Amino acid sequence: MTLVLPVDPLNPAADAIRQAADVILSGGLVAFPTETVYGLGANALNPEAVARIFEAKGRPRTNPLIVHVADTGSVLNVVADWPETAVRLAARFWPGPLTVVVSRHTVVPDLVTAGGPTVAVRCPAHTVARELIRAAGVPIAAPSANRSTELSPTRAQHVLRGLNGRIAMVLDGGECPCGIESTVVDVTGTVVRLLRPGVITVTMLEEVVGRVVVGPGHENVARSPGQMTKHYSPGTPIRLCTDQDPMVVSDISRWSGKRWGLVHFLGSAGPSVNGVVLRGLSDDPRSAAADLFEALHSLDEAELDWIAIIMPPDTPEWAGVRDRLIRAAAET
Ligand code: AMP
Ligand code: MG
Repeated sequence: MTLVLPVDPLNPAADAIRQAADVILSGGLVAFPTETVYGLGANALNPEAVARIFEAKGRPRTNPLIVHVADTGSVLNVVADWPETAVRLAARFWPGPLTVVVSRHTVVPDLVTAGGPTVAVRCPAHTVARELIRAAGVPIAAPSANRSTELSPTRAQHVLRGLNGRIAMVLDGGECPCGIESTVVDVTGTVVRLLRPGVITVTMLEEVVGRVVVGPGHENVARSPGQMTKHYSPGTPIRLCTDQDPMVVSDISRWSGKRWGLVHFLGSAGPSVNGVVLRGLSDDPRSAAADLFEALHSLDEAELDWIAIIMPPDTPEWAGVRDRLIRAAAET
């Protein structure tokens, strides 16, 4: 059984945080809210504890983990080098939803970095996450708290859908405000590279560090399996379309006898039209991101044959949401 401890997201009770920190220090796994999604945390310096993350998630060991620290100062305990670009990015975006890839410190176990020379680090803004890391007194390795390739969790009940009985504890701090995983940037090369889009956009990054190249270089392709195509996927098949797509605008009859859901980004809409379960998300990229995984989890639970999604526009502001949708729809 997984113990669920409710906590106030802004002012978590010290005894709940202490209990969770003790689980981390004894090598166990705790799911906890961050501003992005729920993380599945283990002591990042303990290889046996980190191995349990891979087991619980069914995560391939080739997929490295993000190490979470309580403040910018403690990042120096897990990195070999903290370049000027990282200093500037952290000064502007930490604590917050930005992960920075730099050279690893030798204390970081191989399993965390998938054997590579770099480590991904982040200082989260969520009070529960920061207090947990502080109380544990160790950096916490935490991928999203879901089974590998499945939907990311933005509520405690989403964590339980995939991991109930497989982990010691969930700190239930309610909804995750950003709703999609952190933006990941690699600062080890001569140019800053965006490895995963998130709510911190390329436009925002470029204001701080100048030009940012989108996508991995040859050297880090193997280390960036967040770029594996299939990821963030519900059990129900997903079909992506545009608002010009004939399936959506005229060919609904072809779908009779099938139950399907339709997600769009034009604002809220009624629950159902002609047997189609409609789910309207905001036309504002940040609000839409906040509700994205909740919408996909709830449609996935509705036992539909298909989920159709009308894609939001291909602009930097929507890059994080579009990335998750494209991977959610991928079959392999
Ligand atoms: P998640 O599975 O949601 O925790 O995502 C972790 C993301 O961080 C994945 O996209 C990884 O590829 C990326 N990541 C973690 N460590 C590294 C690293 N050392 N180099 C490049 N990407 C990394
Ligand atoms: Mg994940």
